Amino acid sequence: MKKRFNTKVIHSGHGTDNETGSVMPPIHLSTTFKQNKPGDFKFEYARTKNPSRDVLEKLLAELESGEQAFAFASGMAAINTVCDIFGSDYHIICSDDVYGGTRRLFDKVKTNIDVTYIDFDKNVNWDEIVSDRTKFIWLETPSNPLMKIIDIKNTSTIAKDYNLPVICDNTFASPFNQRPLELGADLVVSSSTKYLGGHSDIVGGSIVIKDSQKYGEQISYLQNAVGAVPSPFDCYLLTRSIKTLSVRMKQHNENALKIADYLNTNPKILKIHYPGIDSKYKDIASKQMEGMGGMMSIVIDTNVEGINKFLKSLNFFTLAESLGGVESLIEHPAIMTHASIDKDIRDSLGISDNLLRLSIGIEDSEDLIADLKQALDKI
Ligand SMILES: *Cc1c(COP(=O)(O)O)cnc(C)c1O
Repeated sequence: MKKRFNTKVIHSGHGTDNETGSVMPPIHLSTTFKQNKPGDFKFEYARTKNPSRDVLEKLLAELESGEQAFAFASGMAAINTVCDIFGSDYHIICSDDVYGGTRRLFDKVKTNIDVTYIDFDKNVNWDEIVSDRTKFIWLETPSNPLMKIIDIKNTSTIAKDYNLPVICDNTFASPFNQRPLELGADLVVSSSTKYLGGHSDIVGGSIVIKDSQKYGEQISYLQNAVGAVPSPFDCYLLTRSIKTLSVRMKQHNENALKIADYLNTNPKILKIHYPGIDSKYKDIASKQMEGMGGMMSIVIDTNVEGINKFLKSLNFFTLAESLGGVESLIEHPAIMTHASIDKDIRDSLGISDNLLRLSIGIEDSEDLIADLKQALDKI
């Protein structure tokens, strides 16, 4: 029967257990499985495939409207695997404002991949940047930490002319707010450590593909050969978390919009990067996203001392890296998440020393606004 998104998060990936009738899927810890005769089995060895990961992967595939999903031990393990699909010694095109760890992997670990970073806000001369060595286009939208929005549909149409796959990091939006495969992307990567996990207690990652004929076998091969797989317990926990993805995301979206509207009225805030109110991105964002998400960054009219005073005065925003959990977090990109990017690149991107990134949780928005207000009053 047809399942809409909120039904999928509850019912996809598993039914009731045939043997016991258990309503929720069990955790299968066994590392090896009995074969009926040599080579005749459903599961063989737990790294290759196991029942708990199977449930999660089927669920993720349906949520992203893909044909097949692969779970990994972290978002970075998933991104590394995507790079390995295309071999080595090649060129890629990447949006310029990406997760610090993604840039570190591309620039400092995968040294035989050449990367052209592109500001998608400007006109892109594709003929000039695409060469025979180009293997894919990497998009992160909304981006981290500046919440830039890239038109996925438009970019995918252009990519088809050049026969290039589009890979989209969907971590910030989550499949509740945005499904890149429906917009023309070929692969979707997520850090499930963030909204999918949602409780800041699991590290995980995933790749979902539109066409399993095209990449399925190769990703399965790499997933098994490299072995950066999540444990059955983490797979179970993630499946459990995803059951509340829709209700959590609705609250993240609602709270963030209210907070952005409040901050917009506060004269100490010089700039708010939030697609819901950013006139530059509002139109594309509302076309390709169902909600604007819980992430924003703000520029405060103060110096480093003022920033530290502001951070110290907050009660409900914990100073911590990461995002997407039920609790509100705040962080300083230049010193924390984006410190691995060289300062001149940070400056050119606009990651200034008075920029803070907020992950809006699902507390009462009135309390969060009151907290921000009293801390801003102190500087
Ligand atoms: C956190 C994050 C990653 C990396 O994921 P891990 O699970 O931390 O390895 C990749 N992309 C984005 C956008 C992220 O926020």
